[in-house]
Parts: sequence; C-alpha cells; structure tokens
Amino acid sequence: MSNYLFRLDDASDYMDIEKWNRIESILDQYGIKPIFGIIPQNADETLVSKYARNEDFWSLMHSWIDKGWTPAMHGYEHRYVTEEGGINPVNKRSEFAGLSYEIQAEKIRKGYTILEKNGIHPTIFFAPSHTFDENTLKALKNHTTIRIISDTIAWDIYKTGEFWFIPQQSGRVRKLPFKTVTFCYHPNTMSSDSFIKLENFLRSNKEHFCSSQSLKYIDRQKTLFDKLLQKTYFLMH
Ligand SMILES: [Zn+2]
Repeated sequence: MSNYLFRLDDASDYMDIEKWNRIESILDQYGIKPIFGIIPQNADETLVSKYARNEDFWSLMHSWIDKGWTPAMHGYEHRYVTEEGGINPVNKRSEFAGLSYEIQAEKIRKGYTILEKNGIHPTIFFAPSHTFDENTLKALKNHTTIRIISDTIAWDIYKTGEFWFIPQQSGRVRKLPFKTVTFCYHPNTMSSDSFIKLENFLRSNKEHFCSSQSLKYIDRQKTLFDKLLQKTYFLMH
C-alpha cells in the first residue's frame, strides 16, 4: 500500500486566505498533516499584486506548526529568472537552476534567515516550479540545516549524498502505484471543483496519508527502477 503525503505550495504574506482556510478545515477534518511551503520574501507579481498582505501571516504559520504541519522553505522570492529545468525538469523555468553557486547561495541564505528570524525552522526545501540543480543543493548544505527535498520522480524516498528526496509525482489526488506519493496543491488557485474532488478522495483514502515527520529516512539509494520512472516521466512530460 502506498504512503500518501500532502503538500501545499505558496504560503506567503500574500495569499488567498479564504481558500487556505477552506483547505485547512478539510485537512483538519480528515486528520491530514501536510508539508506547507513558505515563500520567505514573496516578490512574485502574480501573487503580490493579486492578494492583500496578511499582517498576521507569521502567527498563522505558527498555528499550523503547532498542530503538526511541517514547514518547508519554498524558494526565496518566487521569481523565475532562468529557463532551465535543472535536475528535476518538470518546468523550463526556475528561480535557481542554471544560476551560479554564489547567486544561489545568497538567495538560500537570505530566505533561510527570514524564516529563522520569524521562528520557523524548516527541515524541507522545494523550489518554485520544482526546479533546482546541484548548486541549489550545495547552497542548502552550506547555509542551512535542511537535508530533505520534496521533489523528485521515484518509487520511494531515496538518499543521494547528504540529501533525502521525497517523491512528488502528482498535482492532484489519485491512486498511483508508488510506495511514497506526494500530492501537491496550490490553494491560491484551486477551483471549487478541485476542493470537492479532493474531499471525495480523502473520505475514502484518509488512512493512507501520513506526515512527512513519520516517514522513515533510511539510506535507500536510487534504484534502476527509480531512474527508469524518472526517464519515462520526463520523456512523457
Ligand atoms: Zn510556488
């Protein structure tokens, strides 16, 4: 049976509070504790110009942590500055992939400092549009204590170098034949239909969901099967 994880992207001081409240109450109802990605210094015009600034943002983040949700660092400014896919080429755009180590290290250091200053100690990182490269990992290693990445195509968690990679294969809930599956949602842009589909799925599958904190971080290496899945996925994508 699969382990399902739930991931929420784009928490920042500029977000659609009503939709986030709605997803929070659904997840609470089914006892699901997601990973949520915080944009430390949101400078993404599509988000900043659309939503009013939430003055109580950091206390909202702490209320989620207090109930067992897992905070993640979701990039730095959420601005796309390259057209690279990096080592997880889900999209051909990135805040990180393709940039020099020095530039990436600066972004990682600044973003992490903002989170730490606000009392948030993330253990997981995922980049905007899922795209990062070896320099992103090096910057995380040198400037943070984060050693888990939520983003890869694989059958299960694996470890490469000092980092564990939690697979993230789908942008919507559905049955998938993998050991560990992360469903990634963007509450800001969710339609009422996607809320309904989500709730239907959770109603009958809630017992398969776990928190990223209860996963076993063992020294499993990436297998030939994982590599095949990645290759197939990116060929079809
Ligand atoms: Zn994002």
